Amino acid sequence: MDIDIDVDQFDGLVEGIDAAELAVRAAAAGRLEAIYALHQALPTDRYSAACDALVAEVACSLNLSHRSAWRLYDEAFMICQRRGLLTALRTGDIDLTRAKLIATLLPTSDLQERWEADAIDYAGSHTTYQVRRWLLSRLPDGDDKAKKTAFEDRRVEITADRDGMTDLYAYLPTEVAEALFTALDTLARTNTVPDDQRTLAQRRADAVADLLDEQTVVKTTVAVVLPTSGIGATVNGCPLPWTNAWHLACRTDPTWFAWLATPTGRIINTTPGQYRIPTALARTVRARDQHCRFPGCSVPAARCDLDHTIPHPDGDTTADNLHCLCRRHHRIKHQTGWHVVNIGDNELEWTSPAGRTYRTKPPNTLDHAA
Ligand SMILES: [Zn+2]
Repeated sequence: MDIDIDVDQFDGLVEGIDAAELAVRAAAAGRLEAIYALHQALPTDRYSAACDALVAEVACSLNLSHRSAWRLYDEAFMICQRRGLLTALRTGDIDLTRAKLIATLLPTSDLQERWEADAIDYAGSHTTYQVRRWLLSRLPDGDDKAKKTAFEDRRVEITADRDGMTDLYAYLPTEVAEALFTALDTLARTNTVPDDQRTLAQRRADAVADLLDEQTVVKTTVAVVLPTSGIGATVNGCPLPWTNAWHLACRTDPTWFAWLATPTGRIINTTPGQYRIPTALARTVRARDQHCRFPGCSVPAARCDLDHTIPHPDGDTTADNLHCLCRRHHRIKHQTGWHVVNIGDNELEWTSPAGRTYRTKPPNTLDHAA
């Protein structure tokens, strides 16, 4: 259907929106700078009572709760200390939402240095959703402490709304969220009625209630892609730490299917479950190795990953090509310059990035362990 509209008038309206948006962005930068200037004018420690008093001043002036004022103060602190980001906001290249996203997901100076300019450039022509994905796919995996802290923050919250509705929000490990959403989507597409008038979004929402019904059974499969480079793993397309993806791929329940990919993410093996190590074989390797096979490490085999010495699919999934590695050393092997070879009888020779070599032997032989 043609829309009867004067093109020049339409163009003028859109230009008006663009101009207003530029003004909003510049004003957002100005507001952050004003708050940051207040902080700079007072010699206060960020966590001191004097700083808290300053935030109370901002809260009263803007009619905000103390908590909201602190959030604003944190944003000012976070963005105004990064000149590139502040300039991009002031000149209108990006909006406040994208500026906060970049500041939050690139928090450390080395990440800033490496990605900030590219992120600003990318954010200028992509949606917030795309920018988030772009940033997440470039972040190195957090260390164990960071992952533990994030995991401890998992939660489900509800907020009442009007007209008998309520928001339900969950902060979950990526693979759980993907599995849950896939289950809801599956139910939404299968639990239909004749002449169903509901939209897909409405059917997914109704599927949440279906899950409460004991009679409802839903089988979920989630795709795990595991690049051989040791970075860039995804679950249903969502970035997640490589070691988490590895653990999903090794699980024996049929929910998680692993696809092996090249370092650039190109799928090279689409047969589900190829990465799975049979239980008996895993038991044998753990009995042979007893602990992590990195030099000097004594993390028990039960808490170790089983790693292919020659990466799959070039290397076979056999006892001679598998060894136990704890999470830390597994990550070090895949993400840094360490290399390992089996020099015979399952003796491993490790070569460090500096070129030094170290050897470790398994405490048990295979005959003894089998
Ligand atoms: Zn170890």
